[in-house]
Amino acid sequence: MLLNRQELDKILGKADQAFRIYKKMSLKQRADFMRVIGEEIMALGDELIHTAARETNLPEARLIGERGRTVFQLTSYAAAAERGDWLEARIDTADATKTPPKPDLRKMLVPLGTVLVFGASNFPFAYSTAGGDTACAFAAGCPVVVKAHPAHQKTSELVASAILKAAEKCKMPDGIFSHIIEPGNAIGEYLVKHPVIKAVGFTGSYGGGRALFDAANQRKVPIPVFAEMGSLNPVFLLPDKLATDAVGTAKLYAGSITLGMGQFCTNPGLIFGIEGEALDLFKQTLAHEIEQVAPFKMLHQGIADNFSHKLQQSLEQKDVHVLAHTKSEIKVGEGNITVAQVDAATFLTNPLLHQEVFGPYSLIISCKDAEQMKEIVSRLEGQLTATVMATDQDAAQHEDLFADIQEICGRFIFNNVPTGVEVCLSMQHGGPFPATTDSRFTSVGADGIKRFARPVAFQNWPDQFLPEELKNANPLNIWRTLNNQLSKEAVS
Ligand code: NAP
Repeated sequence: MLLNRQELDKILGKADQAFRIYKKMSLKQRADFMRVIGEEIMALGDELIHTAARETNLPEARLIGERGRTVFQLTSYAAAAERGDWLEARIDTADATKTPPKPDLRKMLVPLGTVLVFGASNFPFAYSTAGGDTACAFAAGCPVVVKAHPAHQKTSELVASAILKAAEKCKMPDGIFSHIIEPGNAIGEYLVKHPVIKAVGFTGSYGGGRALFDAANQRKVPIPVFAEMGSLNPVFLLPDKLATDAVGTAKLYAGSITLGMGQFCTNPGLIFGIEGEALDLFKQTLAHEIEQVAPFKMLHQGIADNFSHKLQQSLEQKDVHVLAHTKSEIKVGEGNITVAQVDAATFLTNPLLHQEVFGPYSLIISCKDAEQMKEIVSRLEGQLTATVMATDQDAAQHEDLFADIQEICGRFIFNNVPTGVEVCLSMQHGGPFPATTDSRFTSVGADGIKRFARPVAFQNWPDQFLPEELKNANPLNIWRTLNNQLSKEAVS
């Protein structure tokens, strides 16, 4: 379907009208709507799974799991929306005895307006049409316009039909959700620059995210773009850990590197260790494990070609040596699972080796000592995650290194793998640029709702005209910070 500008303006005009109604609906109404979306997605049944499997090459078991996660996001963010903690309600009551007299001040988050969501190719459900960004926007009180990812349009259409059905059942305003299935950069740019759009959620390439971020900042009225654009998720193998468990660590990482054909933003792309026998054993074991893993088709031919091109580029760099490839024959569209090695001095001087190779590839970097590892940390760009594989002895001996690593990541992992992003309130999925465009926020977990809201303070307002959330009686029974104390008490 090719839409002309008038048709797009009409869609966005309706979204703007919907905002005026939706922002006044109660937290419970928003939450009920989100739960019904979850039910309608489940009601699509096998057709949804089969369609997504056809379009993305992902195994059905993975897609069933991802659908479950998507519904959980909707229901758990709905519950969080109703709990209201995310609103950050603050009340400071008046004090006439102060000089000058202190006014009554009450603050909370209010929705930004219509949110534009770009679906991700690697999560056709959980980060796409009804994924985390859409769920957060609805929870915050914002209408959503989705630009369907061109790699899974039919899947996106089915999910969109579930959202629209839920909107009808819950008597949501016309325009609460729109689905645009026109491919091409021009349409994305037009939408980002449209005055009705007040924020953007994006997951994809650095080039795409950066272009949309720049377009949003060139607007007469700039808007926030929450873009997640890639990460190499460095892993640091500390000496005592390697000395005690090189084999177990290598086996754990063989699984993480190849999970989902490496098509996760949390794939461990860089692994650092200190040269010696233990690191050699780690490499040998990892190489053996990698050789045994059979590839499957990547998400689409574009991603497979991109992987193959970037892999080749990385392997062609001076002093980069292949440790292992999968022993299986590679068919069209599959990724050649690979691990390679390089020394730290070369890594430090070659910026190409610091770039994401999206797919099943990891580079093992041998450092001379912990000081060189520390130097590398100071030269790495922002990351979604960083991991230390360490014993308590390592942790006690490398406090400064760990403090430096914390500076470059959003999620800091101890003795585990970065793949697998739990959906819960304590999750941080976002990191310093260029992992994301705003490291202060997360795109996973109910705190992601705050991306699509802004604070407003109400000064000296009569109780009856305040939003329910800030009224004296606390009719919604939410947690509020009342005169600096977290409380559910009414204001006396
Ligand atoms: P992408 O090329 O960034 O596209 C994502 C979305 O943004 C699509 O809807 C695309 O629409 C739109 N878009 C891209 N560039 C744009 C621009 N300059 N102006 C306006 N809209 C734009 O990502 P992808 O197709 O999912 O995968 C390509 C590569 O991105 C992968 O090979 C991988 O390197 C990386 N990637 C990273 C992650 C991660 O989580 N880190 C996830 C997925 C992909 P149109 O194509 O219709 O323009």
